[in-house]
Amino acid sequence: MFRLGGKRTERSRKGGSMRTIGLIGGMSWESTAVYYREANEMVRDRLGGLNSAKIQLASLNFQEISELQNAAKWEEAGEVLAASAQDLERAGADMVLICTNTMHLLIDQVQAAVDVPVLHIGDVTAEAVLDRGLRTVALLGTAFTMEKDFYRDRIAAHGIEVIVPGEADRAEIHRAIFTELAVGVVSDETRAGFREIIGRLIAEGAEGVILGCTEIELLIGQCDSPVPVFPTARLHIEAAVERALA
Ligand code: GLU
Repeated sequence: MFRLGGKRTERSRKGGSMRTIGLIGGMSWESTAVYYREANEMVRDRLGGLNSAKIQLASLNFQEISELQNAAKWEEAGEVLAASAQDLERAGADMVLICTNTMHLLIDQVQAAVDVPVLHIGDVTAEAVLDRGLRTVALLGTAFTMEKDFYRDRIAAHGIEVIVPGEADRAEIHRAIFTELAVGVVSDETRAGFREIIGRLIAEGAEGVILGCTEIELLIGQCDSPVPVFPTARLHIEAAVERALA
């Protein structure tokens, strides 16, 4: 483990008080691009002039990560992410973001590898849900995110009830993420299917919808849902920018 705390902070503050955001991205790069663009737009809007976000990016090969996911080699995937977090910390990052909901399965392993905070995408999202006064939300994401406990439990820990789609709908969402959205395909037909899924979840009591996969917000926006949607990539980077400028 690298312990560069004091020196790192000093270096990143030189020439301004903005903190450096570390991104573990590439999962997929289509959504990491959202993080990069949004961070810079938010800093520009807040500070004006030529101000832009201080970012360190570790961009992984999603083919390799996806193979580890499908083989359930989570520990190995966690080692890859932990090494990336250490690279970011060494490069001056004051905080680290894992730019995918799914890989928050491994956040403890990543956090254990660095001294700087790793901001949990689920906590940021849950806070946004509570800010809207909602208590029951639907969760759309990869099969890993919808079917394993780690993400639902994290949201539920904030006192929020989580509804997941039925089996066929989960399969369709997972398919769309990996065969379309992660490779840059945005289809009207798939969007129509997602709108139907959201309708079914509202009928089950969802008051809002967590777009709990960072690619889904490339397909679905507020105009596709009669109840509030929570775009996790945007919420995640927004929280990071807040901290970077605090
Ligand atoms: N970006 C997606 C997410 O937010 C899926 C990528 C992955 O499987 O890590 O979960």
